[in-house]
Amino acid sequence: MGIEPFIYKANPGRVVFGAGTRRQLSSEVEALGLGRVVVLSTPDQAEQAWAVAESLGGLCAGTFHGAAMHTPVEVTNEALRHIEALAADGVVSIGGGSTIGLGKAVALRTDLPQIVLPTTYAGSEMTPILGETENARKVTKTDPRILPEVVVYDVELTLTLPAALSATSGINAMAHAVEALYARERNPVISLMAQEGIRAFAKALPIIVDDPANVEARSEALYGAWLCGTCLGAVGMALHHKLCHTLGGTFNLPHAETHAILLPHSVAYNAPATPYAMDAMRMALGQPDPVTALYELTRALKIPAGLRNLGMAHDGVALAAKLAVTNSYWNPRPLEENEIRATIERAWAGERPLAGV
Ligand code: NAD
Repeated sequence: MGIEPFIYKANPGRVVFGAGTRRQLSSEVEALGLGRVVVLSTPDQAEQAWAVAESLGGLCAGTFHGAAMHTPVEVTNEALRHIEALAADGVVSIGGGSTIGLGKAVALRTDLPQIVLPTTYAGSEMTPILGETENARKVTKTDPRILPEVVVYDVELTLTLPAALSATSGINAMAHAVEALYARERNPVISLMAQEGIRAFAKALPIIVDDPANVEARSEALYGAWLCGTCLGAVGMALHHKLCHTLGGTFNLPHAETHAILLPHSVAYNAPATPYAMDAMRMALGQPDPVTALYELTRALKIPAGLRNLGMAHDGVALAAKLAVTNSYWNPRPLEENEIRATIERAWAGERPLAGV
């Protein structure tokens, strides 16, 4: 078969990757013409933020350590007041999706340039997408101002990410690549990145869980995070991301764990409609059945088996299935409520996914 027709659109951005690359941050700040940046982090990562601020010397105007999960608008407003008082001309976000979300929310409102130092594998740094929460509702926005200008991947910053968080964050990233393989806008470049991202994580995560300080595996995983984040920023997602968004929003389930538990089940649901994606996953995972391979990987990584282990009540299964088919969205396989309920049911109970291919 020849090449299917496609449209490919790349997001602009500069990526610096390596070990110790944070030491190049001053020159990245200067290259953007900035001289008074504010360093953002969560309270947990204040120490890392201070170290970055210190390394910037006179290029840094101050720090803000209030970043929180789901990017609450009140926190963004507090950060904006702080940034204005300091007359800052750019933001440096050091952390995972929560901190990066705050930087994006600030950039959306001010158009200040962003430099990001990612410390998890969630991939938000590569996307023009922001999910923020106002009045208990999470709203997703897409805008070119949201996309960070520069991303500095420093493997050394990921060495402190605990093993359990590394595992769930890594599967969260793989989910971006998996859905990119069967996205409506899929194209050969993104599919190559997706396949390579899945391969990199499948190889690196079992090593990291046993030995979180293994620099080689950490490097492979962070490379995977870049690839998978690029996939998320370039093409639309489908059932799996919709389910995770619904479950997170309605039942307040933790983001990365929900992704990690659901992924093999979502892939099982879509497998019959996506033979081309299954082929790519077979190659990436080196296993004949991608559904079983993904499920076995999550078991080997000691990720909680079922959504019930995250505290979700059983009566949520039917509601989640109903919500999953309410606002219609694109998916390679038609959305069938009963089948989706059966899929969520197995994910809830922590059972093996139904269909293999
Ligand atoms: P997170 O940013 O919430 O981090 C979890 C915790 O781990 C935090 O306390 C953080 O300070 C800590 N941490 C992070 N890196 C660490 C390190 N190296 N060492 C020690 N502690 C560390 O978690 P996340 O999974 O990266 O982000 C989840 C959020 O990101 C969700 O709100 C999700 O919606 C969002 N997200 C957005 C996009 C997008 O494109 N907009 C993509 C992926 C995720």
